[in-house]
Amino acid sequence: MNRLDEDQARKDLVAVARLCYQRDYICGTEGNFSIRLEDDLLLTTPRGICKGSLEESDLVVTNLNGEVVSQRAKNGKLPSTELAMHLAVYRLRPEIRAVVHAHPTTAVAFTVAGKSLTKCILPESILMLGEIPVAPYATPSTEEVPESIEAGVRSSNVVMLDHHGALCYGDTIWNAFYLLETLEHHAKTFFMAEMLGGAKPLQKHSVEKLFAICSIYGIKVPANADELLKGDRVSHDITESKSKK
Ligand SMILES: [Zn+2]
Repeated sequence: MNRLDEDQARKDLVAVARLCYQRDYICGTEGNFSIRLEDDLLLTTPRGICKGSLEESDLVVTNLNGEVVSQRAKNGKLPSTELAMHLAVYRLRPEIRAVVHAHPTTAVAFTVAGKSLTKCILPESILMLGEIPVAPYATPSTEEVPESIEAGVRSSNVVMLDHHGALCYGDTIWNAFYLLETLEHHAKTFFMAEMLGGAKPLQKHSVEKLFAICSIYGIKVPANADELLKGDRVSHDITESKSKK
């Protein structure tokens, strides 16, 4: 694994954390973020700090066991109490270089209401998010959390934590953030459509066509794409599509 430039990683992590606060994906001292600098080195957020005013010197460097190994600024800060969740992602998916955890209101509201976010309503969210797994409720900051996310992390780059938040990860912290942004945007649109009388999913053949041309968007078909085509996540009503012509 190539070593990332730590100064740049600090800048990127702080920029993403502040954006999450400004965009209302977290409030108070919520949320935690990390970047894998190299095989056994993580840059991560300290506990108990508002991400809206986070500074590069506040960040903590740990190993993959979560032990603080270097505090360049000698800030004496401890890593987030939810670091074990990040460590689980890096253990389960060695190619992942950054993890973002936030509490986006609309997406979390779906889990509070016991409703699935997976529905084929927008081309971008179908391709970027795929099927959105929900990890069973686990007490935050305990060992229950890493266990609860295991199945979801293996199948997707976005996992909802039941009655808690969202976990997004990718090859860069910006790509992990874009997943979070797309997730909340999808949830808002889905919610508004429900308020307007009910979200009507795209036709199954339209979603299949989307998968066929997704290389145009420069992205891969989601690993769990088959799940998207099941049940009422897509419309199977052929007569409806014919009558619209
Ligand atoms: Zn949380």
